[in-house]
Amino acid sequence: MRLVAFEAGGRTGVGVRHDGAILDTGFADLHDLIAAGQAGLERAEAATEEVAGARVLAPLRPGKILCSGVNYASHADENPNAVMPTEPFFFSKLPSAVIGPGEPIRIPRPTTLTDYEVELAMVIGKRGYRIPEEGALDHVFGWTILHDVSARDVQFKDSQITLGKNPDTFAPIGPEIVTNDELGDWSTLRVSSTLNGDVMQDSATSEMLFPPPRLLAFLSELITLEPGDVVTTGSPAGVGCFRDPPVYLQPGDTVTVSVDRIGDLTNPVEAGW
Ligand code: MG
Repeated sequence: MRLVAFEAGGRTGVGVRHDGAILDTGFADLHDLIAAGQAGLERAEAATEEVAGARVLAPLRPGKILCSGVNYASHADENPNAVMPTEPFFFSKLPSAVIGPGEPIRIPRPTTLTDYEVELAMVIGKRGYRIPEEGALDHVFGWTILHDVSARDVQFKDSQITLGKNPDTFAPIGPEIVTNDELGDWSTLRVSSTLNGDVMQDSATSEMLFPPPRLLAFLSELITLEPGDVVTTGSPAGVGCFRDPPVYLQPGDTVTVSVDRIGDLTNPVEAGW
């Protein structure tokens, strides 16, 4: 099943995308659908009423957003300061940075070095602490795309990963959530990004250093993962800051991050000053 959040006629809800239409599940929020468990999925599967004039929103406002740092060898190779990691590395993005498909990424200052990163992301469906690697994906409700936008000037100036990763609008999510059963094998997906139509990143999830079950086991050694949390899986080579010359997002740009079997997440870029 493919789930979206929508706004229509001043009302927000969760819909099922089916043959181009959005069908109303009756749930106001994805967190409610997840909390309803199997009954929630069955209710969504039974949806038949099409939503007229729906505008697609970010599929959820996550609880925690935990992002893999370097998780593709190619991204470590292109970074002159990176050491090939021997275990996963995480930082967090804040729910206040989340926007949906089509909403503008707003560059906060003229001097902000704004960079793109496509990431396959998991939405947690079942609470877990010290989740064993085997069976870890049973804790995943579904999969989506998180665009890990960065202010590189802030991120690299003083290792302030939190600040540099979290200006408002720097975490587009969507366009929809594909349930775990519908996505199938996570390791066979192409991940890519395009800037104004030019391909900037193009890789495959088979190239991850640490697979998603390992990421969930690693994180939950210390942190309880809760329904509605989002965990990302890192970004491959091709980001703007390590290009020669570097490429940064500018007002007027359009950037799309894509993952096979999930879709395309496109956002315009605007000046926010
Ligand atoms: Mg990233």
